[in-house]
Amino acid sequence: MSLHGKTALVTGSTSGIGLGIALALAEAGANLMLNGFGDSEAALAAVRALGGNVAYHPADMSKPTEVEALIHATEAEFGSLDILVNNAGIQHVAAVEEFPVERWDTIIAINLSSAFHTMRLALPGMRARNWGRIINIASAHGLAASAGKSAYVAAKHGLIGLTKSVALETATTGVTCNAICPGWVLTPLVQQQIDARAAADGDIARARHELLAEKQPSLDFVTPRQLGELAVFLCSDAAVQVRGAAWNMDGGWLAQ
Ligand code: NAD
Repeated sequence: MSLHGKTALVTGSTSGIGLGIALALAEAGANLMLNGFGDSEAALAAVRALGGNVAYHPADMSKPTEVEALIHATEAEFGSLDILVNNAGIQHVAAVEEFPVERWDTIIAINLSSAFHTMRLALPGMRARNWGRIINIASAHGLAASAGKSAYVAAKHGLIGLTKSVALETATTGVTCNAICPGWVLTPLVQQQIDARAAADGDIARARHELLAEKQPSLDFVTPRQLGELAVFLCSDAAVQVRGAAWNMDGGWLAQ
């Protein structure tokens, strides 16, 4: 699978799943635009080590004007934007009647609305070249709920609906739009939830096991690398008829 000559933007790619996907796309030959609030120098170095062309943009994905600057910077740097991975996301756990209103608004802005903005801005170029791959990182929580995660669950269900709409609008073109729905992946986002569970007795191993046992029958984490391989497949010619899918990679979570 060669993505040489293609340019990928992965939002929120300074850590976790986004970085895993960026590395897999770079390994397949794509130019990479990185984004996110983590260690950008380390992420840039990791892509460069694979021999890839790479740049970084610090856009805050909750701000439409910064999203617009990110898309324009990608096209200016590499000449096109061919693969768009909407990955940036945050979590907040609280019962709905205690959910801070500002956190609700921020989660919807980053986890859902940012994908609307990146897609509306990237699609004209993809349509003009008649080739594009849009991959929205939803979640098992895009297809099933958990208590305490109302904003995240609403945003991820919304992201899957948005994915289907864009897949239909592009169905007769060379542009595909799909969602990936990971189960538990051991990233900073999930480590925070493990730490919160372990707060009472400090037993991280027990907290990890309980987190997995509640939802993920394999009792093992999905890895950013595995998700990166799935993203590379969705960019391939073999995947051209995969359109509007919500593809779970979740250790059996959604089979229950
Ligand atoms: P992470 O915290 O490691 O990565 C999130 C990335 O988004 C980071 O690079 C962070 O800097 C960036 N980010 C956060 N707010 C941003 C903003 N306003 N603007 C730009 N970048 C911002 O978490 P992760 O687990 O790798 O999550 C990545 C995606 O995968 C998220 O959309 C998350 O909902 C989804 N997901 C994660 C899991 C899991 O188990 N970890 C499961 C399903 C889905």
